[in-house]
Amino acid sequence: MNILFMGPPGAGKGTQADVIVKEFGIPHISTGDAFRLAIKQGTPIGLKAKEYMDQGLLVPDDVTIGIVEERLQQPDCREGFLLDGFPRTLSQAEALDGILDRLNSGLDHVINLKVDRNKLLARLTGRRICKNCGATYHVVFNPPKQEGICDKCGGDLYQRSDDNEESVGTRLDEYINKTAPLLTFYENKGLLRQMDGEQDIDQVSHEIVSLLRG
Ligand SMILES: [Zn+2]
Repeated sequence: MNILFMGPPGAGKGTQADVIVKEFGIPHISTGDAFRLAIKQGTPIGLKAKEYMDQGLLVPDDVTIGIVEERLQQPDCREGFLLDGFPRTLSQAEALDGILDRLNSGLDHVINLKVDRNKLLARLTGRRICKNCGATYHVVFNPPKQEGICDKCGGDLYQRSDDNEESVGTRLDEYINKTAPLLTFYENKGLLRQMDGEQDIDQVSHEIVSLLRG
């Protein structure tokens, strides 16, 4: 089961991804993790990525695509994967098709979590992130057991400086503009599954699991 997760920041992708990968026993592949792994393992493409990152430069598309390809070739992806955070552009989506073709594979479902822009604004400005492990919380929707402390690792939680309304709004608009063509791309392939991400977390999970069990 090869799944691609899409949705704007704040739609709850990470939370839902955690549920799905547990339910189906497949790895959760985010580009961030794939980069960290490739760099840690010191693969040629990982070293290349590190060069750019060390200089504070944007990693070019071909390197990002190489990292994703390397990750999807790992044995733990044979029974499926949940990809999240890639592709972000149409050219990356085409590159992903190429990668999966070479693996004699393909996407089964592209799940898009839909949430109204105003709701996203409310969600994102209440977000808190663990300094240590990157786990995300929300002061209203998903508070940690103890205020300001990560449930998973005990690390301190902080609010990103750009989680104010203006920069969040800009980020959302950027996301929407960039990924709208992707949604059309996958819709035309018959892969797009729209999910109402405004329902409560458990209901969204339930609907995604039902869809995937189909
Ligand atoms: Zn933590």
